[in-house]
Amino acid sequence: MEEALKRINELKELINKANYEYYTLDNPTISDYEYDMMMKELIELETEYPSLKTPDSPSNRVGGEVLTKFEKVTHAIEMKSLADIFSYEEVLSYVDGVKKITQDESYSLELKIDGLSISLIYKGGVLVEASTRGDGVTGENVTNNVKTIKSVPLKLKEDLDIEVRGEVFLSKAQLEKINKEREAQGEPLFKNERNAAAGTLRQLDSKIVAKRGLDTFMYYVVKPENYGLKTQTEALKYLKSLGFNTNPVSKEVNKVSDILEYLDEIDSKRFDFDYPIDGVVFKYNKFSEYTRIGETVKSPKWAIAYKFAPLEVKTKIKSITFQVGRTGVITPVAELDPVNISGSTVARATLNNEDYILSKDIRVGDSVYVRKAAEIIPEVVRVELNERDASSLPFKMIDTCPECGSMLLRKPGEADYYCLNEDCPARLVNQIIHFASRDAYDIQGLGSKVAEFIYQEGYVKTIDQIFTLKDYAQTMILKEGFGEKSVTQLIDSIENSKNQNFDRLVYGLGIKQVGKKVAKVICERYPNIDLLMEAKEEDLSSISDIGDVIAKSVYDYFHNESNINMINKLKSFGLNMVYVSSKKEGETVFTGKTVVLTGSLSKYSRDEASKIIEDMGGKTSSSVSKKTDYVLYGEAAGSKLTKAQELGIKLITEEEFEEMING
Ligand code: NAD
Repeated sequence: MEEALKRINELKELINKANYEYYTLDNPTISDYEYDMMMKELIELETEYPSLKTPDSPSNRVGGEVLTKFEKVTHAIEMKSLADIFSYEEVLSYVDGVKKITQDESYSLELKIDGLSISLIYKGGVLVEASTRGDGVTGENVTNNVKTIKSVPLKLKEDLDIEVRGEVFLSKAQLEKINKEREAQGEPLFKNERNAAAGTLRQLDSKIVAKRGLDTFMYYVVKPENYGLKTQTEALKYLKSLGFNTNPVSKEVNKVSDILEYLDEIDSKRFDFDYPIDGVVFKYNKFSEYTRIGETVKSPKWAIAYKFAPLEVKTKIKSITFQVGRTGVITPVAELDPVNISGSTVARATLNNEDYILSKDIRVGDSVYVRKAAEIIPEVVRVELNERDASSLPFKMIDTCPECGSMLLRKPGEADYYCLNEDCPARLVNQIIHFASRDAYDIQGLGSKVAEFIYQEGYVKTIDQIFTLKDYAQTMILKEGFGEKSVTQLIDSIENSKNQNFDRLVYGLGIKQVGKKVAKVICERYPNIDLLMEAKEEDLSSISDIGDVIAKSVYDYFHNESNINMINKLKSFGLNMVYVSSKKEGETVFTGKTVVLTGSLSKYSRDEASKIIEDMGGKTSSSVSKKTDYVLYGEAAGSKLTKAQELGIKLITEEEFEEMING
């Protein structure tokens, strides 16, 4: 409880500061995603410890302060905010909750425009007042400024008394233009369209506002029943008929699967609109149910905002460490201030190699953007140079192995440094881990922790010794963290693994350049160990998909004395050394399978990829469901990917797709 209180106070302070910078200064210092994640955490803590929720909590408040330079306007009906959700799970549970009251799934889906809300009051069809949302109760009178916005009608097509609400925004092209001008004048640049729009609308000089090219989309009619409107869809049409600009991408739906489909569609093209959007708003369609569905102090319950996860998140590099792989390759790794990216905590990200770091000038202490997508290793993509500490030093590659101290070597033509010591402990442990991994020998219970332990204890130093671990079983049982059951299971799974197909052995040996697919290709040609060990380099390189580099690597491996000794031992332990091909006449990996494509692939257009799948006996579908077999995803994959993850559907990258095509 004390911990929670401490964190709640910390979050409140951080959020209040961010609110001030965002709403009052129009100059945020953290990303919206960071803000949203802090708010989410605060709300979760306050829900768990209701006694710690105070009335002044930012989770109860809408927007920010009202600037005194403008006249104040009190909203007759409060201008509330929207609650945010971030996952499909939350979408399903929200829709479910509303359905308990309404018995249906009828929604108006609209783009969530990233601008600021505005209220417009017309008397006898003439615009008399325009105000910002402010703190929801009191806003700023910005009538003169709003009158300069071309899409706001000064006179409606009907002589009505009406209040309407919507979003003032700046297009992407307009922001670029304004920032170019500001740069030329030496003025600070606007960080994004939303801040530029807010800064502009709250300008005292209307002439400047007129030049900036603000635009609007209107989406609410206040007291819709006064105009005979029954649904939000009707309200949008009505707004258009009165002469307002409405967003053309909105959609009426009646079932939750259509909501998910709309989210998928918008997410996949979220950067294609020429105005900024940060999500999708869904509003329960029938006004007659609004009172029953209700509201909170901050937001209505009949509408909710689904926010897109960012592709990149900003954090800081605490230090750079170096990992030694099984082949001796040295990979620099950024140790990060942990951040949440699309629901998982990321504390380390790969920096690939020396060239990668130097080309991006990545340094310890830098604020950096980190990218993570499903099944992809988190990667540092760029540096926020504006935030660099003046005392930071350029990166310098190490020259000795961090594990065994041997000199490192960067081979000509390669970007990587290698530890060449074949007895380097890090290399050996990683070879054991690789051999036991799921795609190789798949030995249950032999993960990285156990591998390190059995190495340190001296039970297993090389791959072949995995199969003599049973000699240490009794000793191991007595060690902390192990028991009879876990050790017996481990020994059993080692014994059972001996029957694995031969390609898994070839892959598991960790021969440089030999991945899963190459191992299979090699085994199709050399289906047992003796044939493979006798293979000539030129014969190996004559196999399609096997180049000279791989051929040399395989040849060298099987002509190295210690490797030959090890293989002989593996043979004597009874490991299967014969390959059973899984290829069936006429059948492919896609036969009878349903595949959904999302995001953009680098080598294939969607049509091309779909055609390949269909030619191979599969079919493609546009939405993810339990019946989907694979989701093939590329750059900027959207909510289809998230949904597939939630449903536990097999995800395939473009690389894996190619492997599947090539058998
Ligand atoms: P919000 O942006 O999450 O959602 C509510 C707003 O969405 C409405 O007020 C309206 O202006 C807008 N909207 C856009 N399209 C809409 C549509 N079709 N229908 C209805 N509303 C639509 O909430 P908010 O209270 O305006 O702002 C909070 C958000 O602002 C935070 O979630 C965060 O993203 C951002 N923020 C960032 C910082 C920062 O420091 N980076 C600080 C404060 C707030």
